[in-house]
Amino acid sequence: MKKIIYVDNAATTKLDNDAFEAMKPYLLDEYGNASQPYSFSRTSRKALKKSREVIAECINAKPTEIYFTSGGTESDNWAVKNTFFGGRKKSIITSEIEHHAILHSTKAIEQIGCNVVYLKPTREGLIIPEELSKFVTKETGFVSIMLANNEIGTIQPIQELAQMAHQVGALFHTDAVQAVGHIHVDVQDLGIDMLSASAHKFNGPKGIGFLYIKEGTPIVPYINGGAQEASLRAGTENVASIVGMAYALKKNCQNIDNNKRKINKLEKEFIRLLKEAGKIEFIKNGGKNTLSGNISLSFKNQDGEAMLHRLDLKGICVSTGSACDSHNTNISHVLQAIHLNKEYAKGTIRISLGKDNTIEEIKIVAEEIIKIVQIS
Ligand code: PLP
Repeated sequence: MKKIIYVDNAATTKLDNDAFEAMKPYLLDEYGNASQPYSFSRTSRKALKKSREVIAECINAKPTEIYFTSGGTESDNWAVKNTFFGGRKKSIITSEIEHHAILHSTKAIEQIGCNVVYLKPTREGLIIPEELSKFVTKETGFVSIMLANNEIGTIQPIQELAQMAHQVGALFHTDAVQAVGHIHVDVQDLGIDMLSASAHKFNGPKGIGFLYIKEGTPIVPYINGGAQEASLRAGTENVASIVGMAYALKKNCQNIDNNKRKINKLEKEFIRLLKEAGKIEFIKNGGKNTLSGNISLSFKNQDGEAMLHRLDLKGICVSTGSACDSHNTNISHVLQAIHLNKEYAKGTIRISLGKDNTIEEIKIVAEEIIKIVQIS
């Protein structure tokens, strides 16, 4: 098999080997349904309880405030649709640069009677409190702003935004799918009511995540059925994946500062190599305060999708910010929202570094990008 250089860690991450080992017993021998009272299920039940405690500790929450879901998409859907089904005030504020898990959920409830305002970011991708203050009213029931953007990495001033929402009695949710396990996340410090997270973004398994719901928050069940997750999210618990998620999160949280330091060094070297090559006109998107290693670059007069395919031929995995069909270039909603000049926007690729990337890999990626840009 061709050697792969994986620099698309914002799309997904490799499952941590130790997390996989921790999961194995629950896939094989300890298969008891965690909700059954007999002693065979005791080990699964204990693992579930322990995992909830570990995850809660990682974000400074209480174990009873962690609700397991199938991932970021479900957590986002639950948080948004709770506004409608919960019978609270039906005015919502979110931003133009949210993930589609939020935007398509707000579109869905707009069609059945909710009023939604989409805040505009600055050119750096920031949702500034002044922008929220223009729209927040006593009618606002729910505000959802992501903690860090998945395309351009911008980290938002969540504390101030949450305070502003609370001043009018609205609930505040943050989609922290790209942030949890990568930057320190403390739900008490942030002062939020709900937070979405997904295991496969922090070296856990795919198809598992959680929604943090602050004690006392008015919430309605999203998936109806059995009594799992305090009867709010029914379905037999996916114990193995929950164990893997807790393991991976704890490991990542214990190493956040080391990982960040390493990734920042790689990022700096990568940008240096591109700048040194000369004759390459590019912009780094997302402003000054971005997630480490989330490098969204827009190359002047290039085609991001063509770049992606040419890198793919070399075994390099990146994402693009635009997709071409034979007639059009579809620039992503995030790049459109930050009003990136078209001649740059269509040449956008996202390189997202992870803790396992090496300096040798970064040099190869830079070299291949330089070749593509210089010859086209
Ligand atoms: N929110 C953000 C910011 C994301 O980046 C993603 C995944 O890319 C999601 C939500 C959806 O998460 P999941 O893949 O776990 O459904």
